[in-house]
Amino acid sequence: MRITDVTVVLHERVSTESASFGPRGGRQLLGVLRVETDEGIEGNSFLSGPGPGPVAIADQIVTVVKPWLVGADPLDIGAHWRRMAGLVHYLSPHAVGSVDVALWDIAGKTAGLPVHRLLGTCRDRIPAYYSTAHYRTPGEYAEDAVYWQEQGWRGYKLHPPRGPWLPPGTAPPVDFDIAACEAVRAAVGDEMTLMLDSSWSYSYPDALRVGQAIQDLGYFWYEDPLPDHDIHGYQRLARHLTIPLLATEITPGGLTALPPWITAGATDFLRGDVVIKGGITGLMKIAHLAEAFGMNCEVHDNYNPLNNVAALHVMMAIDNCDWLEVLAFNRAGDHSLAHFSYGLTEPFTVDAEGYVHAPTGPGLGVGVDWPLINSSVHAVVE
Ligand SMILES: [Mg+2]
Repeated sequence: MRITDVTVVLHERVSTESASFGPRGGRQLLGVLRVETDEGIEGNSFLSGPGPGPVAIADQIVTVVKPWLVGADPLDIGAHWRRMAGLVHYLSPHAVGSVDVALWDIAGKTAGLPVHRLLGTCRDRIPAYYSTAHYRTPGEYAEDAVYWQEQGWRGYKLHPPRGPWLPPGTAPPVDFDIAACEAVRAAVGDEMTLMLDSSWSYSYPDALRVGQAIQDLGYFWYEDPLPDHDIHGYQRLARHLTIPLLATEITPGGLTALPPWITAGATDFLRGDVVIKGGITGLMKIAHLAEAFGMNCEVHDNYNPLNNVAALHVMMAIDNCDWLEVLAFNRAGDHSLAHFSYGLTEPFTVDAEGYVHAPTGPGLGVGVDWPLINSSVHAVVE
């Protein structure tokens, strides 16, 4: 089998009121990568934000990867991954990940099996946790957590209204974060697993204070309290806290950037996704690295619906990831999950016990909704 063409359809999506990246009610681009073969099998992945965005990612794929990918065997995934990873000065990780996901889709369709069967299936379901946007009051977090608990969900993660990308001085005092974590625990009781993601935003003293508060509340992990470069600060926190730290979500460099975090004892979990950590191949390598050190690799949200499906296949093929993140970006009180199905032929669902189930169809197991994509095409990059 040979690859015959590599193109990207840029679809113009009108963002809805709920559950979307970018300006509400505005237009945003979603890229659909098409890797076609001489046997009529096509592999796909979606290109979206964050990072350079779908236009830039599409341009990188078509100008840097396409010239040698066309004519190659799509099943030489390891070789293609190695070559793309070696082009780090020309390709963003998003381009590597997008091509890798589409190649795995081809591999699964060729075998007539879901991708997780090729990777080595460990299980057929994983519990989901709801991951919040920024809310205005502790009570909004608590009401939201109760709603998802009533739907059968087992985990809930707060993002307090802070982040290094916000204007300086606009975040509330850290007392807000502690009050929100207290309100959620009081509202849902002891059964629900709770996590806090502080988006790299605290000073060391604030990080220590919040960490002590949430470990007393029985929170399960403490994510990104300090800036992502601050390995030394994370080491200090680890010496003073018993709550596990999760610290490496955006580490540039993927697999090869993670050993220092492990050997320094600066995090208790590795973190990865198929978008910025090299696709299905890259995420599997990170999960195996974590396994060798007796650590979990907790998979991050994957930024768009088809990449979330791709990551789900990895989660089915490893047993050192306990949770699937559902990062909805909804306003408080908005419980729509339509965003997670956009552009796909199958809806994203969480069952009544809070589990997401493995896809059963060949390849990624979920198709592209081409009538929807073709209903608003901005451009085709080829
Ligand atoms: Mg995070």
